[in-house]
Amino acid sequence: VLGRDYGTQDCSIARSLEVVGERWTLLVLRDLTFGLRRYDELRRSLGIAPNVLADRLGRLTDEGLVVRRLYQHSPERFEYVLSDKGRGLAPVLFHLAKWGDLHYPSPLGPPRVSLHAGCGGSVDERLHCATCDASVWFDEIETAPRGTAQTDGVEAGAPAAPAVG
Ligand SMILES: [Zn+2]
Repeated sequence: VLGRDYGTQDCSIARSLEVVGERWTLLVLRDLTFGLRRYDELRRSLGIAPNVLADRLGRLTDEGLVVRRLYQHSPERFEYVLSDKGRGLAPVLFHLAKWGDLHYPSPLGPPRVSLHAGCGGSVDERLHCATCDASVWFDEIETAPRGTAQTDGVEAGAPAAPAVG
């Protein structure tokens, strides 16, 4: 039986994984990063069991990565937004995606592209914008589903990829 925590580890990664290492947690954070806010949106996007989503959101809220905000009074409805602490995981999510694209690529190419906000250039794993040549920080990166970005395929001279799914 797997232990529930990494209590014997004096390790910064292990301490972080106590908060974000459970199954689904990073994907919840991913969707919040994409701008989803409402429980039903998250549930639809993730295809996750309601009790699991409630558990993950509760934990992330308790840990201060996510803020729960009332957006409707009757009936009461809440939305979930990332705190600064939660947004601090943007580099982790970005590099995890780039690492996955490199070592476990989708045959269709990366499902989402990373773009320099306001510029639209694609941002590589070294945080370099292919269009304006700038070094880009994470708060200047936006993502778009494959095939929807205006710059998709432009640099390679290829036609834009067809929209998928
Ligand atoms: Zn740029």
